[in-house]
Amino acid sequence: MSILSILIYPDENLRKKAELVSDKENLNEINIFVKNMFDTMYYYNGIGLSATQVNIHKQIITIDIDNNKIVLINPIIKNKKGYVSFCEGCLSIPNFFLNIIRYKNIEIEYLDIDLKKKKLKASNILSSCIQHEIDHLYGILIIDHLKKNK
Ligand SMILES: [Zn+2]
Repeated sequence: MSILSILIYPDENLRKKAELVSDKENLNEINIFVKNMFDTMYYYNGIGLSATQVNIHKQIITIDIDNNKIVLINPIIKNKKGYVSFCEGCLSIPNFFLNIIRYKNIEIEYLDIDLKKKKLKASNILSSCIQHEIDHLYGILIIDHLKKNK
């Protein structure tokens, strides 16, 4: 088990944009890294984690909601519908919570851990969580939604 250290706001590395994972990437290395991401996420009681938060600037996300483990590589939102609001926290901004309005239903395309193309439909908390983690890959934090929501 490896617990990675999480970047804490206002660390400037949280603002870096993650690069796409290429198909030449070593699958074994990705596997080990993703396992460490899950270990780290569980250790800190998170439901989602982006590689950006552990200072690896590649488009990799781990999520676990209701024992449903998901790995998203190079995720893209293809369709979106409706709005929903949840009170969100972030492992990179301890003890801070904010109601954020996001798309209620999304359809995404992504690569799984074997870099195979997949599609996923998500709604409500899973949809919000995916959007939160995708934001991280672009250097966007929940505090940036403060102005947007008003
Ligand atoms: Zn976060």
